Amino acid sequence: MLSLKTAAWLRTLVRRMGPVATDAGSATGDSRTDMSGRTQSVLRAFFGGGGGRAGLRIDPGGWLKSVRTSRARESTMPLSEERLTLTLDGGVEGIWDCNLADRSIWISERWLARLGYAVDAIEARQPLDHIVHAEDRERLTLAMVAHARGLAPTYECEHRVVCRDGTSFWVLTRGRVVERNGAGKALRAVGTQIDISHRREAEARVEYLALHDDLTGLPNRRLLRQRLDRAVMRARNGRFTAAVLACDLDGFKAVNDTLGHSAGDRLLRIVADRLSGAVGSGNTVARLGGDEFALVLEGLEGPHQADAVAKHVIAVLCAPIEIDGMVVEIGVGIGAVMVPNEGITADDLLRRADIALYEAKTTGRDTYRRFEPALAARHSARYLLAFDMKDAIRRGDFYLVYQPVIDLAAETVTSFEALMRWRHPERGLISPMEFIPVAEETGLIVALGAWALAEACREAMAWPGEIRVAVNVSTVQFQHDLERSVSNALDGAGLSADRLNLEVTESALMRDPEGVVATLHRLRARGVRIALDDFGTGYSSLSYLRRFPFDKIKIDRAFIKDIAEPDAAAIVRAVVGLGERLGMSIVAEGGETAEQLDLVRSEGCDEVQGFLFSRPLPANEVQAFLRSRRMSAAA
Ligand code: C2E
Ligand code: MG
Ligand code: MG
Repeated sequence: MLSLKTAAWLRTLVRRMGPVATDAGSATGDSRTDMSGRTQSVLRAFFGGGGGRAGLRIDPGGWLKSVRTSRARESTMPLSEERLTLTLDGGVEGIWDCNLADRSIWISERWLARLGYAVDAIEARQPLDHIVHAEDRERLTLAMVAHARGLAPTYECEHRVVCRDGTSFWVLTRGRVVERNGAGKALRAVGTQIDISHRREAEARVEYLALHDDLTGLPNRRLLRQRLDRAVMRARNGRFTAAVLACDLDGFKAVNDTLGHSAGDRLLRIVADRLSGAVGSGNTVARLGGDEFALVLEGLEGPHQADAVAKHVIAVLCAPIEIDGMVVEIGVGIGAVMVPNEGITADDLLRRADIALYEAKTTGRDTYRRFEPALAARHSARYLLAFDMKDAIRRGDFYLVYQPVIDLAAETVTSFEALMRWRHPERGLISPMEFIPVAEETGLIVALGAWALAEACREAMAWPGEIRVAVNVSTVQFQHDLERSVSNALDGAGLSADRLNLEVTESALMRDPEGVVATLHRLRARGVRIALDDFGTGYSSLSYLRRFPFDKIKIDRAFIKDIAEPDAAAIVRAVVGLGERLGMSIVAEGGETAEQLDLVRSEGCDEVQGFLFSRPLPANEVQAFLRSRRMSAAA
């Protein structure tokens, strides 16, 4: 028979089931005869409704089992019991009752079935550790201990449960201690368990996508950083020697350009496979974008092992690759850095690896260099900028501003010169005078310049048809298919070629006069106009004017600044005379004062560009500037 004390305890238990059963359930006692004919007293606590009632039954041996009775027998069921039964019948939620002393656990009927156990089997009372995934036990225990010690009002943990057949799935376990001994020690906890495997799978998928490269399935930059953080921490504990290898393919662009992008993609996948094979398991191979990869090698005995892996990687990637029946050969430059044990950020590690890579690339094809502090000291500022620049291109931190060029006779705007700006997340605005040379040195100007062309042409489409856009092109772009970048930009924007001016400097003509002049002729044949920029700075300028019939000469602002002085004025006058004879119009750069403007006009310049009229404007202010000029002309 059920004692009063036990009945009260059961009611308390039912009340404490927390979110599932908020009201007190019922508790009764009765007796039954077992198989051997003995009479046993049985304790029951019921929660339930609907088609039947679910509950706990404590048999004389102390076993708690779930039981079910028919609705007909228990017709006056409270609403809370009905809700609980419905929940339990739904099968997505289970109830558990854990003896904290021996860690044995009772689990409700449907949930036991979900775990693959027979409901009435004696094994219904499982040791807790059997059903919790081995990797999650410590976490679960810690959460339970924190709650048992009163540090958390309830206890909650996401973990995996192991089914009888060995498979596992994710659950959210919530519970609370319902019984303590006189000394306050937690003896028993009860609670619920919800299947969250679908949510976990979706989360895992999202996480996978966020941390992996689409094309190759390799870890991406974010995951690489996480792995680097781990390697740095281990190195700090003196446990592991690790190295980071930055790899940049040679010859990838040629494959992409000649065989097409899908061949390029296949090549990258083959490279990914070869790299993964070359470094073996336990190490990380990541794709950082384009043809850049990075490796994190862990558990090394010393730098010599990193050197050996790097040489092996070079050998593996140099082996011919067959794509679409064509045999292609690529190479790779590798820069490595050992993870120091004094603590370093992942970004600094990557920077150092990049410095070494840059050194390797400038030494020659298929070269490997390991970072040394002397390297950084030699090049640090520039390299750091180059490193940041790669990220900035990806993030879109570059933008263009537009400075108007004014026709001196008509006082109207003829064009805008697109000038690049870089808003660095830490350093703020960086001048093109600082970053363009670095971009040229590292080859990043090719991508950056193509972007500027495309962006400027796109922007110019919004302007009145008579206004042209001028874009600066660097010498390096000539060696990397400038014509294609120009065509892509014009076609992409739908801009007519005669609205595009390209500004080139004398240095472009110095490096490869024949090649550059031929390119300029072809571009001009398409209708693009060509200006010689910064005229008068440095070189034996006049000879270049004979090599190519430029449309415009832009006199460097150094001469305009000093135009009040006889020497500078004489040079400006000579250039204007030259322009007239060669049929080239003359632009004065850097007109800042009304006095300079008068002199520039009296010396015979055709156009002027300078702060006097306007500083370079953000794209969205161009139209307003044009309107205000038109209004002041009309007034
Ligand atoms: P640049 O092509 O000669 O451009 C003219 C520079 O003179 C611009 O400097 C402009 O802001 C500045 N300027 C214009 N009027 C005045 C003035 O009245 N007073 C003074 N003090 N300066 C004036 P910015 O924008 O700093 O560009 C510097 C150089 O960086 C450019 O000289 C060009 O060589 C290079 N650059 C800028 N954008 C690009 C680009 O997209 N591609 C390439 N390859 N080079 C670029
Ligand atoms: Mg220019
Ligand atoms: Mg200039």
